[in-house]
Amino acid sequence: MRLWIKDPLAILAEGAERGIVVEGGQIAELVPAGGKPAAPVAEVFEAGGLAVVPGLINTHHHFYQTLTRALPAALDKELFPWLKALYPVWARLDRQALESAVTVAMAELMLSGCTTTTDHHYVFPKGLEDAIDVEVEVAKRLGMRAVLTRGSMNLSERDGGLPPDSVVQDEDTILEDSERLIGKYHQCHDGAMIQMALAPCSPFSVTRSLMTRTAELAARHDVRLHTHLAETEDENAFCLETMGYRPLDYLEECGWLNDRVWLAHGVHFNEAEIGRLAAAGASVTHCACSNQVLASGMCPVHGMESAGVKVGLGVDGSASADSSNLMQEVRAAFLLQRLQYGVSAVSHRDALRWATTGSAGCIGRSADLGVIAPGYQADLALFSLDELRFAGHGDPLAALVLCGAHKADWVMIGGRWTVVDGDIPGLDIAELSRSHQATARRIACQN
Ligand SMILES: [Zn+2]
Repeated sequence: MRLWIKDPLAILAEGAERGIVVEGGQIAELVPAGGKPAAPVAEVFEAGGLAVVPGLINTHHHFYQTLTRALPAALDKELFPWLKALYPVWARLDRQALESAVTVAMAELMLSGCTTTTDHHYVFPKGLEDAIDVEVEVAKRLGMRAVLTRGSMNLSERDGGLPPDSVVQDEDTILEDSERLIGKYHQCHDGAMIQMALAPCSPFSVTRSLMTRTAELAARHDVRLHTHLAETEDENAFCLETMGYRPLDYLEECGWLNDRVWLAHGVHFNEAEIGRLAAAGASVTHCACSNQVLASGMCPVHGMESAGVKVGLGVDGSASADSSNLMQEVRAAFLLQRLQYGVSAVSHRDALRWATTGSAGCIGRSADLGVIAPGYQADLALFSLDELRFAGHGDPLAALVLCGAHKADWVMIGGRWTVVDGDIPGLDIAELSRSHQATARRIACQN
C-alpha cells in the first residue's frame, strides 16, 4: 500500500517539498515542488502543519535508571560518588521494575521523535539474568526499533571496583549469555527491528580478559561493541593509576580500537587520540545533558567531526540526564557546541544531523536509517508547530531546535504509525506514570 505524506510545512530532505511516498515500510519516493507521486497512492496523510525529520536515533541510554531520576542520595555528586550512591538501589532491580522502566524510557523516547534506540544494560542481580529478553519483549510490544547491548561487569567492590558484589557476573556466564542473545535475537538484514551489541560497562568495571574476549566474540558474530570511555578526568586518573594506561591506550590493548566500536561520552580525549579514533573508524556518542549534570566536561563534537570521527547523540541514563527526551538533547548539544565553537561552525542542521545520520553511523546503520531518501526505512518524526513556544517562528526546522521542540505529534517506524496525534496507541500513559512512580518508591526504599 502506498501512502503519500503530503505537503509538509517543512521536511529535512532535498527535493521532497511536496512530501514523500511510503511503501512496504520504506521510503519509496520523494515528491518535489510542483510534482506528484509517480504512481497512484492508496492513502494520503495531510502534513500541512507538520515539520518532518528523519526519526531520531538514540545511541546511549540505561533504561533502568528511569527508576532513579533526581534521587536525593545521588544529587550534586560527580560520576564516581554518584555511582557509589546509586549502585545499592540498582542492586534491588527486579523483573517488574525493569519492565516498567523499559516501557517508560521507550515511550518517552518515541514521544520525543525517536524511532531507534539503543540501551546499555549492565546490572544483572540474581533473578534478573534475562534482563535483555525483557527489553526485547517491550520493544516488540511498542514497535520500536532497538539495538540492545548485552552489558557486563565482573569487577565488584571485592576486587576494588565500584559496584556491589550482587550485581556483577562471572566472565563465562557473561560470554555464554551474550552468545545466546545474539543467536536468539540479532537480525542482520536491512530494516532490522532488533539487533544485539556487546557492551562491558566500562574498561574499569571488567577484567582485561573479559574486554578482550568480548571483542573476539563480537568479531566472530559481526555485532557491534559499545562502552563508556573518557567521560571524566577522574576516569583518566584512575586508569593511569591502576592500569598504567590512558583509557584509549587500554582500549587498543584489548583489541577495541576499530570500526565496530562506538563509545559513550568521549569528553577527555586529546588531539592525538581523536586522530587515532578517526583512523580506526570508531564513533562517539555525545550526551550533552548528562555531561552538564555531572559536570563531566565539554565534548569536542565539532573538533572530532573535523578530524573525521563519526558522532551521534544519546540521552544517557535517566539518573544523570534524568530525561529520555532526544529532541531536547538535540537542543542541548546544539547550545553546548555553539558556545564552544561559535556561530559559523555549528548550526541547527548540524545538531539534527548528529541525532540522525551521525547516530546511524554509530550503530552501523548508515545504509538504511537516519535519512529521508528512497530505499531508506520509513522512520519519521513529525512535529506540529502550533504550540505557544513556536508562535512567531520563521524557519520551521530551525524552530524545532531553537524554540525547544519536545514532543512529536506523529511518529512512524518502518512504515507503521507508533505515535498518533501525540499518543501511543494501546498505552495508557497516565497509568504507566502512576505505577512507575510506585515501583520507583519500592526500589528506592526497600532494605
Ligand atoms: Zn551511560
